[in-house]
Amino acid sequence: MEYVSTRGGGSTPGTPSRFTDILLGGLMPDGGLAMPVAYPRLSATDLAAMRRMNYRELAFSLLSLFADDIPAADLAAIVDQTYTPEVYRNARDDENPRDITPVRKLEPGLHLLALSNGPTLAFKDIAMQLLGNLFEYALGRANQSLNILGATSGDTGSSAEYAMRGKRGIRVFMLSPHGKMSAFQTAQMFSLQDPNIHNLAVRGVFDDCQDIVKAVSNDHAFKARYRIGTVNSINWARVSAQIVYYFKAYFAVTENDSQPVSFSVPSGNFGNICAGHIARMMGLPIRKLILATNENDVLDEFFRTGVYRPRATAETRQTSSPSMDISKASNFERFVFDLVDRDAGKVRELWAAVDAGGAFDLSGTPLFGRIADFGFASGRSTHADRLETIRDVYRRYGLMIDTHTADGIKVGREHREPGVPLVCLETALPAKFAETIREALDCEPPRPAGFENIETLPQRAEVIDADVVQVKDYIARHAPE
Ligand SMILES: *Cc1c(COP(=O)(O)O)cnc(C)c1O
Repeated sequence: MEYVSTRGGGSTPGTPSRFTDILLGGLMPDGGLAMPVAYPRLSATDLAAMRRMNYRELAFSLLSLFADDIPAADLAAIVDQTYTPEVYRNARDDENPRDITPVRKLEPGLHLLALSNGPTLAFKDIAMQLLGNLFEYALGRANQSLNILGATSGDTGSSAEYAMRGKRGIRVFMLSPHGKMSAFQTAQMFSLQDPNIHNLAVRGVFDDCQDIVKAVSNDHAFKARYRIGTVNSINWARVSAQIVYYFKAYFAVTENDSQPVSFSVPSGNFGNICAGHIARMMGLPIRKLILATNENDVLDEFFRTGVYRPRATAETRQTSSPSMDISKASNFERFVFDLVDRDAGKVRELWAAVDAGGAFDLSGTPLFGRIADFGFASGRSTHADRLETIRDVYRRYGLMIDTHTADGIKVGREHREPGVPLVCLETALPAKFAETIREALDCEPPRPAGFENIETLPQRAEVIDADVVQVKDYIARHAPE
């Protein structure tokens, strides 16, 4: 499989890019995102064979279509190492731990896809754990090392640290706003004692952390000298790993490969739902992809009106589903690339406005009409909706859900159609967002085994000023050239 940029260029001018060429990179050199040159189309025979596969076999079959420059035996070993019951330990007693992403039936035709059984209790683990093993493999093969620099307000940082801890050739420098994360999230990250994990607690807010990462990445000499990399959500390997569970869930709720199924996806950076879009383009009979936002409704606005208007960071609201508090959706360009029939010139034109701080408007153009052809529908949810949905799901099904999952179920129900199973993606466990659970249900969310006393474990983090020079100095002292 070869990869092209949504803006028309390649990773190295003149040479085609393969999976491992784009694995460690972020944006393509022309500022676009990597996309497979064409989606593999699955035949009826392929789907029939996949229906019988377990998670590992399915992951290997799908990933080998995209990562065909990794020898099959190596890829199989990486997949087996990643998707083991030892890593996804939070499955229920009545569930097969080898399913990795079990589907729970709420009522006939309504299901929850459990994606949060990994080490940090959020769906990001599924892709990030694979990324950790792919990075270690690729770096080992090239005899190289990598220093990952990231900024986090919670979920991404802990998921990245748990995926990279103890990995050969990899160091992580994770910036987080000092004193601004929940006690649980802080404990998850800061209690890691692995010497290759460095937590930098920045005296400032999340935007300060992100600005520092940008400033370091823009210093090309420093970046090259210390081999700085990222693990952000535009990483193609992460998107491709997320395709797998759409297939797994589809087979779990259907009896044959002609039945339509809809999915509802709590969305922020458009990574998770982008994987659903790709599964659909590969031939999985997905009827609707229902995108749910919280009060930060940039994407809901686009799918309703055709106007994509990223917000200024200062306009982003802090909500009780914080992992969806985004001002612009970094993977959204991938969908638009398909919407404009892969016309990179058109993408460049649209993003010339976006990158200059503006917006684009497809209403009144034929493109707006095409959005529905891709199965997308959308809606938004508020704090009050979240509380109401958490209460309702608890009362009706005896199931406690987290705030993000609640947004997905709320919007999913609005678009539910008779006779079409609806699968709602669970993106985190309620234990991570205890404050809102207490508000909704007046009780403590249960904690999975091993997390009972996480706040009391010894913590290590370096408190540091919101200052690029100090961060660079810290990296220089801890990462050999
Ligand atoms: C990251 C995250 C999301 C948003 O996913 P995207 O891929 O960015 O759209 C939703 N819920 C939770 C709990 C998350 O951590």
